[in-house]
Amino acid sequence: MSDRDFVFNTAAQRVRFAAGSTEALATELEQIGARRALVLCTPEQRALAESMAAKLGELAVGVYDQAVMHVPIETARAAQRLALSLGADCAVAVGGGSTIGLGKAIALDSGLPILAVPTTYAGSEMTPIYGLTEGGVKRTGKDMRVLPRTVIYDPQLTLSLPLDMSITSAFNALAHAAEGLYAADGNPVMDLMAQEGISSIARAVPAIAADARNLTAREHALKGAWLCGAVLGNVGMALHHKLCHTLGGSYNLPHAAVHTVVLPHALAYNSAAAPQAMHRIALAMGLSEAQAQEPLAAAQAVFDLARRYGAPTALQAIGMQRGDLRRARELAMQAQYPNPRPLEADALNALLLNAFEGRRPG
Ligand code: NAD
Repeated sequence: MSDRDFVFNTAAQRVRFAAGSTEALATELEQIGARRALVLCTPEQRALAESMAAKLGELAVGVYDQAVMHVPIETARAAQRLALSLGADCAVAVGGGSTIGLGKAIALDSGLPILAVPTTYAGSEMTPIYGLTEGGVKRTGKDMRVLPRTVIYDPQLTLSLPLDMSITSAFNALAHAAEGLYAADGNPVMDLMAQEGISSIARAVPAIAADARNLTAREHALKGAWLCGAVLGNVGMALHHKLCHTLGGSYNLPHAAVHTVVLPHALAYNSAAAPQAMHRIALAMGLSEAQAQEPLAAAQAVFDLARRYGAPTALQAIGMQRGDLRRARELAMQAQYPNPRPLEADALNALLLNAFEGRRPG
């Protein structure tokens, strides 16, 4: 099989994108065929969820506001029980990856359709991937029942996302597209989406940093999040996502910040093994053709963007301890998964140390 052969297989999802598009929430719910929505949110986003329930009127049967990071099984069960007792026929998830993750936990058991209204750039709304945490251990899986049926992207809802979270969440999106460009099961359509996703995000970050309430910049970022999330949902991820999953889960580090810190180093690790993908990433990041030819251009461009706009660049700055590095490397070596460059213990040690200390690649 040549490396240009591919299989293209994508699941149908309806996406509605516009500033103010949540005005069409009730119409979209009816389009799914649902009449009894349970609205999900975090405690912090209760007021927003209430306003969505008000737009739904009689089509909303309740608001459940206990979504938290990593979907604890107890929360998932409580939400499932509530959905059942209210006779809900749809979960409307209003929020970031944690809230959409809770919707997925309900859908996994009950098959209830999800209507997602994302308010971060994490991209969970575009994937059939779910995660559940039981006894401190997070297990993830793939099931088409958890893929949201409809996604309403309303950039106005992202204006309130705090600046630090906006930037790290944008890097979380960037990571999906960057790894998608060297995915073992990639295809030309996902490559195009990944490139456009990276370039939308790279353009949006400086504008959001200058003015977090710039709606045009928020539109670019959310469009980028959609494209990058679609890549995550359609092709397999590699070393970077594996490392972030391990580090985030084992040391309880903030999800989007870990992605931001690790991405330049994962790209540097894979640079020589995936030169075409790195070239595309570098161009999408806005580098010139000549700059993009440099071997570490993609990794350095991602690092520089993070540093310039005040995002964290070192694992030691986001809660990891130096003594954790060795165990982190052992955990990363344990699982087998496709990656352009084979996993080498010494090189992984260097990657983790560089990420821990926040050194610029190269
Ligand atoms: P999050 O959903 O945990 O949100 C973080 C905080 O920001 C919460 O308090 C939330 O209420 C608040 N918030 C969200 N949007 C806001 C807004 N517009 N204004 C003000 N506050 C806002 O963060 P996240 O990074 O979106 O999601 C992380 C979780 O999602 C992790 O558990 C991760 O594993 C999961 N995830 C899953 C997938 C997947 O495909 N299954 C993809 C990406 C992330």
